[in-house]
Amino acid sequence: RPDGTPPLEVRDVTVRFAGLTALDAVSFTVEPGTVHAVIGPNGAGKSTCFNVLSGVYRATTGSVRFGTAELTSLRPHEVAALGVARTFQNIALSPRLPVRDNLLLGRHRLTRAGFVASGLRLPGARREERAHLARVAEIAEFVGLGAHLASPVGLLPYGVQKRVELARALAMEPKLLLLDEPVAGMNSGERVEMAELIVSVKRSLGISILLVEHDMGMVMRLADRVTVLDFGKRIADGPPDEVRADPKVIGAYLGE
Ligand code: ADP
Ligand code: MG
Repeated sequence: RPDGTPPLEVRDVTVRFAGLTALDAVSFTVEPGTVHAVIGPNGAGKSTCFNVLSGVYRATTGSVRFGTAELTSLRPHEVAALGVARTFQNIALSPRLPVRDNLLLGRHRLTRAGFVASGLRLPGARREERAHLARVAEIAEFVGLGAHLASPVGLLPYGVQKRVELARALAMEPKLLLLDEPVAGMNSGERVEMAELIVSVKRSLGISILLVEHDMGMVMRLADRVTVLDFGKRIADGPPDEVRADPKVIGAYLGE
């Protein structure tokens, strides 16, 4: 799979809000088959960066290329259709629906027959539905949700719900996965488990991962490459151990 995945090339991306430059000519490249982390103190521009990459915000200037596609002019569903999936906060999950149905909703864009046809129980749609169910069960197993397929998401512990978010993004069969603070709000045991799961998504499924994260310790454990933002500017970019020792990076985090 990584062979079919192009790099994500972020070039000189600037985002201005009224009177404030949230991102200032930021560049970095997410290489295929790697975990790339964007880190920085509060207000550094991480969420803004994430929102530009997923088509939620429009860059003021600059470009984001994924293969032959220019992402900066696309809307969120168009970015997703290119194989770039993002997680949303749990509010975007349907708490009353079982895990299985939440994952099926993640496959919506892949459903050729569509929900109308499957609602009418047309034979082709039924076959497609069975294939989707089988794949959803596989993905649930992979992220450790096998036992929870029939459980309403809202009744599961928080750490497990975060796995459902990840599984739903995987259900879209992405080439590149965008994760916004995947361990936020988790205890230390859950953080370690999530970090291991992210590494296994890369290794076993061959999916590239870009994650935006505040927790530097977590990033050092799993990222292949790290880009550090501070006040909207890129202040460092390199392998984790190099970045961690960079005086500019230490200074930015101490200044918090
Ligand atoms: P981080 O996620 O690293 O904490 P953000 O990207 O959320 O940082 O914010 C970067 C800067 O941009 C902050 O000063 C924030 O107040 C500002 N900002 C973010 N989103 C908006 C917005 N929609 N409108 C105006 N200012 C914003
Ligand atoms: Mg943020």
